[in-house]
Amino acid sequence: MTLMRSALLAASESAWLREHAPRIGFVRRAVRRFMPGERLEDSMSAAAGLQRAGLGTVFTHLGENVTDITQADAVARDYLGVLQRLREAGLDTEISVKLTHFGLDIDRERCHANLRALVEAARAVGNYVWIDMEQHPYVDATLDLYRRAREEFPNVGVCLQAYLHRTPADLAALVPLGPGIRLVKGAYREPASVAHPQKRDVDASYLALAKTMLGPEAIRSGLRAVFGTHDLAIISTINQHATGAGLDASRVEYHLLYGIQQLEQRRLVTAGHRVRVLISYGDFWFPWYMRRLAERPANVWFVVKNVLDTGRDRRRG
Ligand SMILES: Cc1cc2nc3c(=O)[nH]c(=O)nc-3n(C[C@H](O)[C@H](O)[C@H](O)COP(=O)(O)OP(=O)(O)OC[C@H]3O[C@@H](n4cnc5c(N)ncnc54)[C@H](O)[C@@H]3O)c2cc1C
Repeated sequence: MTLMRSALLAASESAWLREHAPRIGFVRRAVRRFMPGERLEDSMSAAAGLQRAGLGTVFTHLGENVTDITQADAVARDYLGVLQRLREAGLDTEISVKLTHFGLDIDRERCHANLRALVEAARAVGNYVWIDMEQHPYVDATLDLYRRAREEFPNVGVCLQAYLHRTPADLAALVPLGPGIRLVKGAYREPASVAHPQKRDVDASYLALAKTMLGPEAIRSGLRAVFGTHDLAIISTINQHATGAGLDASRVEYHLLYGIQQLEQRRLVTAGHRVRVLISYGDFWFPWYMRRLAERPANVWFVVKNVLDTGRDRRRG
């Protein structure tokens, strides 16, 4: 892990920065590259534009590690309203949630009840719910709550992280459920005892897991295979593998983050893949934004440019 990446991931965990940095103008402006705005309406108008280009979306209300259960309940209730708004607007938008936003740190059963209510409501309107994967101490609880939800409802999927040593075993155990799996590389600062520290090992793990997700057993079980990545080499290798295995492009679904690899998003649609863009909204964006910078430390130059532009504007004004 590079020094810059480590520093950005450490910043993502700082409560002080989370409190103070979002008030700084240039930080607020720089984050716009990755989110259309803090309001749900901002995400909805971005989603409408993407839908016209053949792209579906996934919405997430930013937030994690809530410490008050009434706040977790309110987040879950808010998502029920979002489902209705999406339906009324005719948007092809799924939902992605973090279980620590739904109260996992406080009361696992209440978190389960919040998740269950959302998945049930989503099923009633033909929608689908994704569960994000957070730091490694949450993996067991997340998979446990995922299993319980999946045993009751078909419209729920979970994210797995290729950097974790445990993920091949977790995937093998989930395949018989006919799950929805969104495979990602993994965004958190993890020790080498639980996660591959080297990018090349993470990439190799990603491809091996992708093959399992597109293998005969997974196909028979009805697994919904989603690849959450912007890595063009990985996307190309997965597509070649799928073609070689005689799979139609529509079976290989990609989810990418808003604002990243936009040409590739459209190219994948043209090639017959199902593609969704994950759009985040809400005011709790600092830790999430630091993880986005850490994924590509060159993004920090974008922030620096905003600082310089601010200075220039001030001098002009
Ligand atoms: C839909 C979706 C859902 C996700 N959900 C989770 C989750 O639940 N849990 C979790 O731990 N992680 C999640 N992630 C983040 C993921 O783990 C990675 O950190 C992130 O996707 C970067 O990895 P990559 O596969 O794009 O490959 P990388 O090797 O990091 O990047 C490949 C190339 O993509 C481009 N790129 C990647 N990231 C950026 C960026 N931030 N800005 C600009 N360019 C970039 C660059 O050109 C880079 O060279 C999610 C990612 C996506 C797309």
